[in-house]
This record gives sequence, C-alpha cells and structure tokens, in this order.
Amino acid sequence: MIGVLGGTFDPIHFGHLRPALEVHESLGLQELLFIPSHVPPHRDAPVAAARHRLAMVEHAIAGVPGFRIDSRELDRSGPSYTVDTLRALRAEIGAERPLLLIMGLDAFAGLDTWHRWREIPALAHVVVARRPGSTMPEDAAYLELAGATESRSALEDRACGLVFFQSVTQLDISATDIRERLGGGRSPRYLLPDSVWHYITEHHLYQRHPEDLQ
Ligand code: ATP
Repeated sequence: MIGVLGGTFDPIHFGHLRPALEVHESLGLQELLFIPSHVPPHRDAPVAAARHRLAMVEHAIAGVPGFRIDSRELDRSGPSYTVDTLRALRAEIGAERPLLLIMGLDAFAGLDTWHRWREIPALAHVVVARRPGSTMPEDAAYLELAGATESRSALEDRACGLVFFQSVTQLDISATDIRERLGGGRSPRYLLPDSVWHYITEHHLYQRHPEDLQ
C-alpha cells in the first residue's frame, strides 16, 4: 500500500510528521509520499517559496525509512489538483495496488469542496487522522460515495473507495501558529524538527527579527 500526504507544509511540523508515522506503522504502508502543493494566491502571506517548503520536508524526513518526498506538484507551473495527482500515481502503480490519501479531519470536513472530488473514490482510499479542534461533520457528503471501514485488511483487499478513521496522537500544532510565532519574534522550537528550525533561521523565513530568536 502506498500513502500520500499532501499539504502546503509551510512549514512542515510534528502535527504532520507524527500522525504520518503512526499511519505508516499502523497500516503497514510500503511507502508514504509527502507531496508539497503550490500555495494558492489567496492564502495568508508571508509564505515560504516552494523551494524552501520542499527543502524543509526533505530535512524533516531525511533518513526515515518508507518516507519519500514527491515534488510533482511543484514541478508543474500552476496549482495542481489532488485528483490529478492521484490519477497520475494510479497510472504509475497500476489498477490493483491500494493507494491511500491521508488527511487530517479538518481537510476531510471540506473534502466535498475539492475540485472533482467525486472522482477520488475511484482512485484512492481516504485515511482520516483526527486533529485537535476539528469535529466530524454531521453529513459528510464524501461518505455517501465511499464506505467507511474499520478493517485494515479491507484497505488491502481493494485498491480504492473506502474511508478509514485512524486514531493518532493528538498534537495541536498548525503551520499558521508557527508562522505567527515567528512573525511575532517568538520561537516555534519543539513544535517542529530541529533540522527544519535550523533551516528556517538560516534562511530567515517567516521572521521579522530573526536575530532575536532562540
Ligand atoms: P496551515 O496552518 O498553514 O493551514 P496546516 O498546519 O494545517 O497549515 P497543511 O500543510 O495545510 O498544514 O496540512 C496538510 C495536511 O496535514 C492536511 O491534511 C491537514 O489536515 C494535516 N494536518 C496538519 N496539521 C495536523 C495536525 N496537527 N494533526 C493532524 N493532521 C494535521
């Protein structure tokens, strides 16, 4: 089984990494691909350039068995849609192999607003990690198209089309909070890997007064 975790990773933090590791371990994935996405122009500024976000993911997952970065969305010029990325991955791995789209509950709650979301069940399973501050939507439209399962083996038996809720260690960390701390001259240390923190300081990302930070 192959897992995919997309995100802006602006920057990547332990709220991405720990749930990713737990999903990887618990479901016995062969590979988990981190796929940084383009930042849509309407998102909060300042945001790090694509090359920095990519480099921070590289630092964060260096040496972790089974974790891999996939830069295909950044290699395209404009924003790319998850459904297109899944379609490309599906073409690469063939029709039989399970593909798992991993996301936090906040993302799952809005999944039915994504571009061509109705095509996703024919391409991948969805694995949802609970996230502090997010609640299960009363009427998740996605669950009308894809059946929820509590069985790990069901995910292995089919290539796509199921939803699995994975419990993970709850870490109330967001990239927005990290950027706000940095913007306010406060340290985000211990919310993200030291290697990412060092990269941020070295490149003066997100900061107004980088010299004040510890
Ligand atoms: P921002 O604060 O800039 O919106 P973010 O911290 O939510 O960023 P993203 O890169 O947008 O991070 O998230 C990528 C994916 O990781 C999404 O599916 C999101 O739900 C999930 N995710 C992010 N943070 C957590 C967390 N603390 N716990 C569980 N899932 C998370």
